[in-house]
Amino acid sequence: MPAQIGRDWHQSKWIEPAHRLNRPHSIGDSRAAAIYIACVRRSVERTGRRDVTKLTENFTLAEMVRSQQALRRGIPNSPGSREVTALRILCENVLQPVREHFGKPVNISSGFRSPRLNRAIGGSGSSQHCLGEAADFIVSGVSNLEVCKWMERRLNYDQLIYEFGEPGWVHCSFSTNRMRNMELSAMRLGGRVKYLSGLRA
Ligand SMILES: [Zn+2]
Repeated sequence: MPAQIGRDWHQSKWIEPAHRLNRPHSIGDSRAAAIYIACVRRSVERTGRRDVTKLTENFTLAEMVRSQQALRRGIPNSPGSREVTALRILCENVLQPVREHFGKPVNISSGFRSPRLNRAIGGSGSSQHCLGEAADFIVSGVSNLEVCKWMERRLNYDQLIYEFGEPGWVHCSFSTNRMRNMELSAMRLGGRVKYLSGLRA
């Protein structure tokens, strides 16, 4: 009687099919390879744009990593575990409280940026986006200034920037290394971007 192929539950090991015994890859190896590929695929899905891993109740890793620029330019944008942890802390301390206070969707236009993506879009070399510590967003149906003013009164953060008024967005960073609670307004003055202290309409 030929040996059964597959798991022998009594011996708890894989039985080689006779015709494969002399091949370099045993059935055990191919099974290990299949498991490895499945793990890699899951890991890609976890860090890719279809990821549905929740960082907090209303925020997924996918929306914190998604980037139209990265897609358009074919630039990889996958955070490491340290950046994912920073994104979770940012969501817990800044984005989720904003979401819960206003009760409206918070649309993230830019969260994590790989250094290559950040360079490609002309971001600051020391951008906290590259560390997973910052996000740009708007709140549906609420002015950016109103969002900033509520955050200034109620939240702790590193930097809060009212960027380019109402057609613009809110930038906020949160870091476990520093908590400056600094408010700035970004404006275009004379064709150049200027950062002024405070929230300025
Ligand atoms: Zn930003």
